[in-house]
Amino acid sequence: MGHEVTVHYPWDATPEFAQPLKVADGIFWFRVPLPMPLDHVNVYVLEDNNGWTVVDTGLSTKKTKEMWQRIFSGPLAGKKVHRLIVTHHHPDHVGLAGWFQKKYGVALWMTRTAWLTARMLCLDEQKIPPPETLEFWRKAGMRSDIIEERQGGKPFNFADAVSALPLGFRRILDNEEIKIGDRIWKVRVGNGHAPEHATLWSKADDIVIAGDQIISSISPNLGVYATEPNANPVKEWIDSCHKLSAFATDDHLTLSGHKLPFTGLKFRLNQMVENHELALDRLIDFLEKPHTAEECFGVLFGKSIQKSEYGLALVEAVAHVNYLHLEGKISRLVDKNGAYRYQRL
Ligand SMILES: [Zn+2]
Ligand SMILES: [Zn+2]
Repeated sequence: MGHEVTVHYPWDATPEFAQPLKVADGIFWFRVPLPMPLDHVNVYVLEDNNGWTVVDTGLSTKKTKEMWQRIFSGPLAGKKVHRLIVTHHHPDHVGLAGWFQKKYGVALWMTRTAWLTARMLCLDEQKIPPPETLEFWRKAGMRSDIIEERQGGKPFNFADAVSALPLGFRRILDNEEIKIGDRIWKVRVGNGHAPEHATLWSKADDIVIAGDQIISSISPNLGVYATEPNANPVKEWIDSCHKLSAFATDDHLTLSGHKLPFTGLKFRLNQMVENHELALDRLIDFLEKPHTAEECFGVLFGKSIQKSEYGLALVEAVAHVNYLHLEGKISRLVDKNGAYRYQRL
């Protein structure tokens, strides 16, 4: 008799912020806060030879720095942090990398694209949204009142939430093996959520540190930005799910960048791909009549979008119409307001 495979949560409650919880020998999990609807990011500290290896950091805020200092002088005192691995370039993961480098002298290990992207964005400070961004918003069908509200104001700058990154990092590569304490971790690179996103797979004991490539109860955000308006992150991400699925089992304990650790990794990878394929099917039907990316929120997300989620929803909606457009399934024409209208072919 088999049992039905699904996602299981070995810890059904979340630990308090900055309270390390041992999830396996030599692996500690804790959460640091985010000032967003998704209110936390998970970080991991691994016992290494003569020190700690940290995976991901949280945003660069006073509160997060204080939490790390408390961790290293309290529950994890007695060993020095000597290495930081960052899974991908997003501010909630790379935020304190530069601070860790300066304060603790750690070696920063990242994929090349992730590091270059983070450092480039840190240096790219804008007082007002640049014209390319305004054009991207218009083409995505952003409501004119929202464009007006945003165009004169200071946009979110990466450097607002990320400590300056000094020159120099240690590149990690797909398929590389990294020894941390008694474990050997295989690097497997994914794409779609962020370019060249690292995931770490423990060879001996079926543990995966997944960052935001794979999350248990929410779907990783797949976004298109003004920097690469024709990008196809949905395809890249689905391809990555297939790639990782070949190595995944349902016994894998997956430690993600958000939400709870879970088992049922292979099941979850398939489930996430199915969810996106169903969303793409609904979208094709909806595009029987021409619509902008923004008008697709309802059919894609099945709920009304709050102001705090609007930006993420917009980049995700563009990602989905780009997928269908690049597959040759929908046409794309500019309407009288300068927005793209997509229609089923
Ligand atoms: Zn992310
Ligand atoms: Zn994240």
